[in-house]
Amino acid sequence: MNIKKFTFNPVEVNAIVLWDDTLECVIIDPACYYPNEEQQLKLFIETQNLKPIKLLNTHGHFDHLMGNAFVEKTWGIKSEIHKEDNYLVEQATSQSLMFGMSLSKPPSPGHFFVDGEIITFGKSALKVIYVPGHSPGGVAFYSEEDLLLIAGDILFSGSVGRTDLPKGNHEQLITGIKEKLLVLDPKVKVYCGHGPETTIGTEKSFNQFLN
Ligand SMILES: [Zn+2]
Ligand SMILES: [Zn+2]
Repeated sequence: MNIKKFTFNPVEVNAIVLWDDTLECVIIDPACYYPNEEQQLKLFIETQNLKPIKLLNTHGHFDHLMGNAFVEKTWGIKSEIHKEDNYLVEQATSQSLMFGMSLSKPPSPGHFFVDGEIITFGKSALKVIYVPGHSPGGVAFYSEEDLLLIAGDILFSGSVGRTDLPKGNHEQLITGIKEKLLVLDPKVKVYCGHGPETTIGTEKSFNQFLN
Protein backbone atom coordinates (compact mmCIF):
# COMPACT_ATOMS: atom_id res chain seq x y z
CA MET A 1 0.00 0.00 0.00
CA ASN A 2 1.23 3.49 -0.84
CA ILE A 3 0.48 6.62 1.16
CA LYS A 4 0.52 10.33 0.45
CA LYS A 5 -0.08 12.93 3.14
CA PHE A 6 -1.17 16.50 2.52
CA THR A 7 -1.60 19.11 5.24
CA PHE A 8 -4.56 21.33 4.38
CA ASN A 9 -6.67 24.23 5.69
CA PRO A 10 -5.98 26.79 8.46
CA VAL A 11 -6.32 24.08 11.16
CA GLU A 12 -3.60 22.01 9.40
CA VAL A 13 -5.42 18.71 9.01
CA ASN A 14 -3.48 15.80 7.54
CA ALA A 15 -5.32 14.52 4.48
CA ILE A 16 -4.38 10.99 3.41
CA VAL A 17 -4.50 9.15 0.09
CA LEU A 18 -3.93 5.37 0.14
CA TRP A 19 -3.57 3.22 -2.95
CA ASP A 20 -2.09 -0.04 -4.15
CA ASP A 21 -0.81 -1.33 -7.48
CA THR A 22 -4.35 -1.66 -8.86
CA LEU A 23 -4.35 2.19 -8.67
CA GLU A 24 -7.66 2.19 -6.80
CA CYS A 25 -7.40 4.65 -3.94
CA VAL A 26 -9.25 5.92 -0.87
CA ILE A 27 -9.15 9.52 0.31
CA ILE A 28 -9.29 10.00 4.08
CA ASP A 29 -10.34 13.41 5.50
CA PRO A 30 -9.64 15.39 2.29
CA ALA A 31 -9.67 18.64 4.35
CA CYS A 32 -9.19 20.96 1.35
CA TYR A 33 -10.35 24.49 2.12
CA TYR A 34 -8.68 26.77 -0.41
CA PRO A 35 -9.08 26.21 -4.17
CA ASN A 36 -5.33 25.66 -4.53
CA GLU A 37 -5.58 22.79 -2.01
CA GLU A 38 -8.36 21.20 -4.06
CA GLN A 39 -6.18 21.53 -7.14
CA GLN A 40 -3.15 20.00 -5.36
CA LEU A 41 -5.22 16.94 -4.45
CA LYS A 42 -6.72 16.66 -7.93
CA LEU A 43 -3.36 17.06 -9.64
CA PHE A 44 -1.81 14.36 -7.46
CA ILE A 45 -4.64 11.90 -8.16
CA GLU A 46 -4.42 12.58 -11.90
CA THR A 47 -0.64 12.50 -12.10
CA GLN A 48 -0.52 9.15 -10.32
CA ASN A 49 -3.40 7.85 -12.47
CA LEU A 50 -5.37 6.92 -9.36
CA LYS A 51 -9.04 6.00 -9.26
CA PRO A 52 -10.68 7.25 -6.03
CA ILE A 53 -13.35 4.78 -4.96
CA LYS A 54 -13.96 5.71 -1.32
CA LEU A 55 -14.10 8.88 0.78
CA LEU A 56 -13.54 8.04 4.44
CA ASN A 57 -13.82 10.38 7.44
CA THR A 58 -12.09 9.59 10.72
CA HIS A 59 -14.67 11.75 12.53
CA GLY A 60 -17.09 14.60 12.05
CA HIS A 61 -15.23 17.74 13.12
CA PHE A 62 -15.68 20.38 10.45
CA ASP A 63 -11.97 20.74 9.63
CA HIS A 64 -11.83 17.07 8.62
CA LEU A 65 -15.01 17.37 6.51
CA MET A 66 -13.58 20.17 4.40
CA GLY A 67 -13.07 18.84 0.89
CA ASN A 68 -15.88 16.27 1.17
CA ALA A 69 -18.03 18.28 -1.24
CA PHE A 70 -15.13 18.71 -3.67
CA VAL A 71 -14.27 15.00 -3.65
CA GLU A 72 -17.91 13.96 -4.08
CA LYS A 73 -18.37 16.38 -6.97
CA THR A 74 -15.07 15.55 -8.68
CA TRP A 75 -15.06 11.74 -8.40
CA GLY A 76 -18.70 10.94 -7.68
CA ILE A 77 -18.09 9.14 -4.38
CA LYS A 78 -20.07 9.67 -1.17
CA SER A 79 -18.48 10.09 2.24
CA GLU A 80 -18.44 7.38 4.91
CA ILE A 81 -18.37 8.08 8.64
CA HIS A 82 -19.44 6.54 11.96
CA LYS A 83 -23.13 7.19 12.62
CA GLU A 84 -22.46 8.77 16.03
CA ASP A 85 -20.71 11.66 14.29
CA ASN A 86 -23.40 12.32 11.69
CA TYR A 87 -24.81 15.14 13.84
CA LEU A 88 -21.46 16.91 13.40
CA VAL A 89 -21.85 16.73 9.62
CA GLU A 90 -25.22 18.47 10.09
CA GLN A 91 -23.61 21.14 12.33
CA ALA A 92 -20.42 21.64 10.31
CA THR A 93 -21.37 25.08 8.99
CA SER A 94 -22.07 26.59 12.42
CA GLN A 95 -18.99 24.89 13.89
CA SER A 96 -16.77 26.34 11.16
CA LEU A 97 -18.14 29.84 11.78
CA MET A 98 -17.23 29.56 15.46
CA PHE A 99 -13.63 28.99 14.36
CA GLY A 100 -13.69 31.85 11.87
CA MET A 101 -14.02 29.77 8.72
CA SER A 102 -16.94 29.20 6.39
CA LEU A 103 -17.88 25.72 5.25
CA SER A 104 -21.07 24.95 3.33
CA LYS A 105 -23.00 22.00 4.72
CA PRO A 106 -21.08 18.87 3.60
CA PRO A 107 -22.99 16.30 1.52
CA SER A 108 -24.79 13.63 3.56
CA PRO A 109 -22.76 10.43 4.05
CA GLY A 110 -23.57 7.42 1.92
CA HIS A 111 -22.50 4.84 4.48
CA PHE A 112 -22.05 4.56 8.26
CA PHE A 113 -19.19 2.46 9.69
CA VAL A 114 -19.56 -0.15 12.38
CA ASP A 115 -16.72 -1.19 14.66
CA GLY A 116 -14.56 -3.90 13.10
CA GLU A 117 -15.90 -3.37 9.60
CA ILE A 118 -13.46 -4.16 6.79
CA ILE A 119 -13.12 -1.54 4.07
CA THR A 120 -11.69 -2.79 0.80
CA PHE A 121 -10.16 -1.12 -2.24
CA GLY A 122 -8.00 -2.68 -4.94
CA LYS A 123 -6.34 -5.67 -3.28
CA SER A 124 -6.13 -3.88 0.06
CA ALA A 125 -8.12 -3.86 3.27
CA LEU A 126 -8.55 -1.48 6.19
CA LYS A 127 -10.21 -2.36 9.47
CA VAL A 128 -12.41 0.21 11.20
CA ILE A 129 -11.42 0.59 14.87
CA TYR A 130 -14.00 2.57 16.85
CA VAL A 131 -12.49 4.74 19.60
CA PRO A 132 -14.94 7.37 20.87
CA GLY A 133 -14.01 10.13 23.30
CA HIS A 134 -12.56 12.91 21.15
CA SER A 135 -15.87 12.74 19.31
CA PRO A 136 -18.64 10.17 19.83
CA GLY A 137 -18.04 8.59 16.42
CA GLY A 138 -14.26 8.64 16.13
CA VAL A 139 -12.63 5.80 14.20
CA ALA A 140 -9.13 4.79 13.14
CA PHE A 141 -8.34 2.84 9.97
CA TYR A 142 -5.89 -0.04 10.32
CA SER A 143 -3.95 -2.05 7.78
CA GLU A 144 -2.61 -5.16 9.46
CA GLU A 145 -0.68 -6.14 6.34
CA ASP A 146 1.12 -2.80 6.06
CA LEU A 147 1.41 -2.07 9.80
CA LEU A 148 -0.28 1.27 9.24
CA LEU A 149 -2.84 3.16 11.32
CA ILE A 150 -4.69 6.31 10.29
CA ALA A 151 -5.69 7.62 13.71
CA GLY A 152 -7.55 10.88 13.04
CA ASP A 153 -7.64 12.97 16.23
CA ILE A 154 -7.70 9.96 18.59
CA LEU A 155 -3.94 9.71 19.12
CA PHE A 156 -1.13 12.15 18.38
CA SER A 157 2.65 12.03 18.68
CA GLY A 158 3.08 12.58 22.44
CA SER A 159 -0.55 13.50 22.98
CA VAL A 160 -4.19 12.44 22.60
CA GLY A 161 -7.27 14.11 21.16
CA ARG A 162 -8.83 17.01 23.04
CA THR A 163 -11.95 16.09 24.98
CA ASP A 164 -13.18 19.55 26.00
CA LEU A 165 -15.52 19.82 23.01
CA PRO A 166 -19.22 18.87 23.37
CA LYS A 167 -19.69 15.11 23.95
CA GLY A 168 -15.95 14.69 24.60
CA ASN A 169 -14.97 12.06 27.19
CA HIS A 170 -11.34 11.80 28.27
CA GLU A 171 -11.65 8.57 30.24
CA GLN A 172 -13.44 6.85 27.38
CA LEU A 173 -10.76 8.03 24.93
CA ILE A 174 -7.84 6.81 27.07
CA THR A 175 -9.50 3.44 27.71
CA GLY A 176 -10.21 3.02 24.00
CA ILE A 177 -6.64 3.88 23.00
CA LYS A 178 -5.19 1.47 25.55
CA GLU A 179 -7.54 -1.42 24.78
CA LYS A 180 -7.77 -1.10 21.00
CA LEU A 181 -4.68 0.74 19.70
CA LEU A 182 -1.78 0.07 22.09
CA VAL A 183 -2.40 -3.66 21.67
CA LEU A 184 -1.32 -3.43 18.03
CA ASP A 185 2.21 -4.32 16.89
CA PRO A 186 4.68 -1.72 18.29
CA LYS A 187 6.03 -1.28 14.76
CA VAL A 188 2.70 0.05 13.45
CA LYS A 189 3.24 3.49 11.94
CA VAL A 190 0.60 6.01 12.99
CA TYR A 191 -0.56 8.89 10.79
CA CYS A 192 -2.33 11.42 12.98
CA GLY A 193 -5.04 13.95 12.11
CA HIS A 194 -2.61 16.78 12.87
CA GLY A 195 1.16 16.93 13.27
CA PRO A 196 3.87 14.33 12.66
CA GLU A 197 3.75 10.55 12.35
CA THR A 198 4.63 8.25 15.23
CA THR A 199 4.51 4.52 16.06
CA ILE A 200 2.43 2.49 18.48
CA GLY A 201 5.64 1.45 20.28
CA THR A 202 6.77 5.06 20.76
CA GLU A 203 3.41 6.14 22.17
CA LYS A 204 3.19 3.08 24.39
CA SER A 205 6.57 3.93 25.93
CA PHE A 206 6.59 7.71 26.04
CA ASN A 207 3.08 9.19 25.77
CA GLN A 208 2.47 10.73 29.19
CA PHE A 209 -1.33 10.59 28.74
CA LEU A 210 -1.20 6.81 28.47
CA ASN A 211 1.03 5.95 31.40
ZN1 LIG B 1 -11.32 16.50 15.80
ZN1 LIG C 1 -8.75 17.69 13.88
